[in-house]
Amino acid sequence: MEKEEVKDVTEAKEVESGTFKCPGCGNFLKYDPGCGKLKCDYCGAEKDVPVPTPPMELYYTSLSEQGFSGWGDVKCIQCPVCGAKTMLEKYQTVTVCPFCGAPNVVESDDIPGLKPNAVLPFRITELKAHESLKKWMGKKFLAPTNLKKTAKTDKMRGVYVPIWTFDSNVNATYEARLGKTYTVTVGSGKNRRTETRVRWYHVSGSIFSCFDDIAVEASTKITQKDLTKLGSFDTKNSINFEDEYLSGYSAERYSQGLDDSWGVAKDLMLDNIRSQIRNRYPDADRVDYINVNPVFSETKYKYVLAPLWMSSYRYKGKDYGFVVNGRNGRTVGKAPLSPIKTFFFSLFCAGVAAALIYMIYMLFFS
Ligand SMILES: [Zn+2]
Ligand SMILES: [Zn+2]
Repeated sequence: MEKEEVKDVTEAKEVESGTFKCPGCGNFLKYDPGCGKLKCDYCGAEKDVPVPTPPMELYYTSLSEQGFSGWGDVKCIQCPVCGAKTMLEKYQTVTVCPFCGAPNVVESDDIPGLKPNAVLPFRITELKAHESLKKWMGKKFLAPTNLKKTAKTDKMRGVYVPIWTFDSNVNATYEARLGKTYTVTVGSGKNRRTETRVRWYHVSGSIFSCFDDIAVEASTKITQKDLTKLGSFDTKNSINFEDEYLSGYSAERYSQGLDDSWGVAKDLMLDNIRSQIRNRYPDADRVDYINVNPVFSETKYKYVLAPLWMSSYRYKGKDYGFVVNGRNGRTVGKAPLSPIKTFFFSLFCAGVAAALIYMIYMLFFS
């Protein structure tokens, strides 16, 4: 009796996984950020996604990367132009690279690597992403005035980029050499002068810190600078990863693995601990060195997929790439410059500079 029940469950799962098929027309269902469900583009049929649950943070050990089970029902494609490695649901086909739009992507034998255990689902729909782009264009001060009206946008591609997050409790002992500067008057007569000296001293102690969700980006397709401009991702609101969220989208394969990313996270935590130690000694104005001996415990990690809309738009025969944060709608990208606006703006700047120079001259030299 018990055995039969187990069998039923697995069968039900098999039917469900990999077949996000529309019950109405047989087309594939895509995750729709507008309604938070799977939706059919053709007949509008909807299907619920599993009830969101908080992601399970996994304990990190030096063996986590090797010992973790891989990602099942996905395939890996590679772009011949930008080299992006992208994961897709097995049944999905893409004709262009989700990152650069180049055609002729090829299936790659690359192993998909660890399976994500958390996801920030798309909250911004493609339509909203378009609106964000238009708003962003409107704010581009030096862009041509007709940019918003005449730019022709390519189809947007929804992609997830990989982020690792780490939690850890750090117990550390430290030893440091700090200094305080003071001035003395030396010499006499004509040689009388003040000199700055440093009084050096040693300090030591222990410090305890809890770190939560230290994020390490593992994407090569978007720069740290652009990510900062897009506003950081709210990884604390991530939910347990379900295959449904990948349906209709693709995910970049991480280029920096778990172990290397843990190395980066450790450095971030140590930097923070060093500045905490520094703040314990407000009198010191010089630091020779701070040696920290940390013991990390209760270290856990999440592998989070974060959503982006990517595409480019065409203006006067040239393509300009842009990215929209799939959570908050913030946009970064390249924009053409209007020659006339740039000319007058430079003229204006030159004018301001000249006025400043004149004022300084009048104040100090006349
Ligand atoms: Zn349908
Ligand atoms: Zn590409």
